[in-house]
Amino acid sequence: MEQILQQFGIAGSNSGVSTGSNILKANGTVITSHSPVDGKTIASVTCASRENYDEVIKTAQSAYEAWRMWPAPRRGEVVRQVGEALRANKEALGRLVSYEMGKSLQEGYGEVQEMIDICDFAVGLSRQLHGLTMHSERPGHRMYEQWHPLGIVGIISAFNFPVAVWSWNSMLAWVCGDVCIWKPSEKTPLTAIACQHIAAKVFAANGVPEGVSCLVVGDREVGEWMSADGRVPLVSATGSTRMGKAVGAAVGARLGRALLELGGNNAIIISKDADLDMSLVGCVFGAVGTAGQRCTSTRRLIIHESVYEAFKTKLVNAYKQLRIGNPLDEHNHVGPLIDKDAVHAYEKAIEACKKEGGKFVVEGGVLEGAGYESGCYVKPAIAEVKNEYQIVQHETFAPILYLIKFSELEEAIALQNGVPQGLSSAIMTLNLREAEQFLSQAGSDCGIANVNIGTSGAEIGGAFGGEKETGGGRESGSDAWKAYMRRQTNTINYSTKLPLAQGIKFDF
Ligand code: NAD
Repeated sequence: MEQILQQFGIAGSNSGVSTGSNILKANGTVITSHSPVDGKTIASVTCASRENYDEVIKTAQSAYEAWRMWPAPRRGEVVRQVGEALRANKEALGRLVSYEMGKSLQEGYGEVQEMIDICDFAVGLSRQLHGLTMHSERPGHRMYEQWHPLGIVGIISAFNFPVAVWSWNSMLAWVCGDVCIWKPSEKTPLTAIACQHIAAKVFAANGVPEGVSCLVVGDREVGEWMSADGRVPLVSATGSTRMGKAVGAAVGARLGRALLELGGNNAIIISKDADLDMSLVGCVFGAVGTAGQRCTSTRRLIIHESVYEAFKTKLVNAYKQLRIGNPLDEHNHVGPLIDKDAVHAYEKAIEACKKEGGKFVVEGGVLEGAGYESGCYVKPAIAEVKNEYQIVQHETFAPILYLIKFSELEEAIALQNGVPQGLSSAIMTLNLREAEQFLSQAGSDCGIANVNIGTSGAEIGGAFGGEKETGGGRESGSDAWKAYMRRQTNTINYSTKLPLAQGIKFDF
């Protein structure tokens, strides 16, 4: 790990404020990053003070003046090189993600791969960013629309995808001509410093102005400055619904734009016509992958009564085979939770579930002893519940899976939709009518709805995000880039007259 930290310019104590190559003397509070893998201190980071933040904003504002004039394909070429640099650093960065956040090494590599993929996507996009043309009702007139950059994009990210979420936002924002200021999760500041280090090198080699890629490490206060700041036209915030409500209100109060990617409460419907063996893989990975700390983690299984007992038995058997331990050891399936607060929330959720009448078919618990010294390792648990339990309505960011029984598909869809969140959903069925009903306008109300795959593990080509308390934002693929630009409608008169629209006469 020592060598990896050195590779990314990370020392024992670090500044968490930079505008690219320029690392500012940070004078905010100091945070220490501990690994949930072994509980050891990795390094400390000094956060941005208000003064540091304002200095970064000023540098970003002047960088924008220049960057917006770079042709988009040239900006795309810089992003292509960032992708190449990520390829070269994939192993080291993936390991650091795994060590600082606690996800499995495979998932750490997968997260960096996702960053590479979005770079490729953004490069193609840099030659598009297209608007439409329309026919004017007036003779000798032409109408079209074009897309311009917004300015500064503030990125607030969560701990569970400590690097990919930054890349989803920044790679698109950069090709669009925006500049970015990233406030990473205070729980994973070192992976953020590593990313900034990688981008800064590429930017410097290409003569990109200082301030196009900025980092301001800090806790929620820095996020609050950003949300209230009229100099930041777009705040893209990923995290809990609680955070999204605060950011949405603050950005809305100044009529800025907020792109919100918040919590999920994702369900898979297991139909009587499901391939149960295949479904099992999707359900178990969805529930225990990243120790249940994905926004798209499977929280609820809604199972048809005719296959309920059989599927429950398969699940219980599969859970018996799970290996919990150091995520850097590729033999293990489940790593630690991010910290002891998360362990506490997991324990409280189990207690609350039992109080409401939940029956655990796989018991949870905190692991102790050799290999579990960090105190962050927990057992994935399964409980039989009712959808209306308060705890089931709530997203607990831990590997607790709830089982619910149904008899008719309409009922299953109502259960699936019957939570405040609307991120990801799936149905396991070989029955075409059921699949289509689930995907219809009377089906799943989520931003993501899948058939015969689980709720987690989205590809970057599609727009990612969810409805209701998940916040409504869309990131990544499809036309999500439009959130990072402003639309301008242009009408050009090439005639010798100036007729008014709607036939209005105005002669003098
Ligand atoms: P969190 O809400 O505690 O923190 C997320 C970020 O918001 C952090 O950077 C934090 O400092 C900042 N923040 C917190 N309060 C703020 C405020 N009032 N104003 C401005 N910034 C504030 O979330 P977390 O524990 O880091 O992450 C887990 C949550 O993130 C889960 O709910 C998960 O579902 C969600 N998440 C959603 C997506 C998605 O795309 N929908 C992706 C990843 C994670």
